[in-house]
Amino acid sequence: MTRGRLVVHAHFYQPTRVDPFTGELPADVAAAPYRDWNARITAECYRPNAEHGSLARASWDLGPTLSHYLADNAPDVLAGFARADRLGGGENDGPAIAQAFHHSILPYAPLHDRRTEIRWGLRDFEARFGRMPTAIWFPETAVDLSTLRVAAEEGVAGTVLAPWQADTPHLEARAYRVDVGQGRHIAVAFYDGDLSGSVSFNAALTSDAEAFARDRVAPRLASPLADGSAPTIVIASDGELYGHHQRYRDMFLQALVDPAPGTPDRGFDVVTLASLLREPGGRPHREIRIRERTSWSCHHGVLRWGAECPDVPDGRWKTPLRGALDRLAGAIDTVTEAFTADLPGLDDIWRARDGYVDVVIGLVAPEDYAAACLGPHSPADDRRRLAAILEAQRWRLAMFASDGWFWDDPIRPETAQNLLAAARAVRIVDRLAGTNLEGRLVDDLSVLRSPAVGSDGATIYRHALVAVGQPPPGR
Ligand SMILES: [Zn+2]
Repeated sequence: MTRGRLVVHAHFYQPTRVDPFTGELPADVAAAPYRDWNARITAECYRPNAEHGSLARASWDLGPTLSHYLADNAPDVLAGFARADRLGGGENDGPAIAQAFHHSILPYAPLHDRRTEIRWGLRDFEARFGRMPTAIWFPETAVDLSTLRVAAEEGVAGTVLAPWQADTPHLEARAYRVDVGQGRHIAVAFYDGDLSGSVSFNAALTSDAEAFARDRVAPRLASPLADGSAPTIVIASDGELYGHHQRYRDMFLQALVDPAPGTPDRGFDVVTLASLLREPGGRPHREIRIRERTSWSCHHGVLRWGAECPDVPDGRWKTPLRGALDRLAGAIDTVTEAFTADLPGLDDIWRARDGYVDVVIGLVAPEDYAAACLGPHSPADDRRRLAAILEAQRWRLAMFASDGWFWDDPIRPETAQNLLAAARAVRIVDRLAGTNLEGRLVDDLSVLRSPAVGSDGATIYRHALVAVGQPPPGR
């Protein structure tokens, strides 16, 4: 008798909202009665879910920018997530999976950024949860084959994707694997689009977890697959759905993954994503191909984060924004290499960047990290130079957070956050190297316009700086 298995996966994420110049989190009146959005969503969602104990039974990823916030502002909530991971798994397993660090759309990123984002995400996970993750969540589930290959090279065993990211509409209720080349594979669980959509958008269907389990989930898990193996279903959604987007939905999650004592047997088991992705008895999952450059919240590939697509009325600002930041990133990289090429003791600046995550998450002081890269007898001046350029690289990575492109208009705070990250990075570099990359950035931004108010990108950039008390760019 093979019992069906259900995975309920919650993607928990908040973009970083700190002022890149001060590290402070500004208050936000829009989040009233709470001080800021992070505080509000913590109270409505992260804290109750951590307290209910449901996170030991559900499957989830906790974005590094969010875990950073929780570590500083609600350490007991972060401890609740870590406890759930320990309670819900074995030695090298648990309900938690990693997330690429800055929530950038990896198919748009150059290869070295993809690797850094994945390495930083894995390292953040290890630091928070005390083990290595087996799987990773790709921001917006945006992938292409080379992103999956980088993840596989970094030791990632699997991920979750949307059903339309498979190159066939005929998916069975099972995990698959994708051949990523060079003899490597990555396991993929495609979530159930219908059930995931119901949980996300149909409040009436999810007021009663037992009815949902009995009427909607159990019938799909009732019969074995054609080869006799047990069917598996993944429900995936934003984690904030459970209590923030929908009040009391945290209770639904708890009841769905952890039925109250005395609940009649549903005929299926709730399991972790990691256990679903593991190949049963050494038999490989069936092979499948993915559709290149696709995602879960845009049905036009990944256009939502870089061009025009029907998800927003006027997305003409998105391509020039990406172009401006891509050009800036390339210039910062050129300066980074030129400026560190003669540093004695440094063997690879990009490997140094990969390790800099330990500074970002507060495990090591910047100059101690630079000393570790350059050797114990390195001059203080060299250490300061390396630490500064790596800090610029940190914000250059942060300026690509997907949120800046997601919405209708670049006057929104999410885009301002990316522009402030760009400003922080470019000002460090211009000061160190005597360049004027900021002037060029401002010119490049002047090409784009806000559909709502008509102001150009240079003006939006200037306003973002003035709003946090930084001098506007000179002309
Ligand atoms: Zn779209």
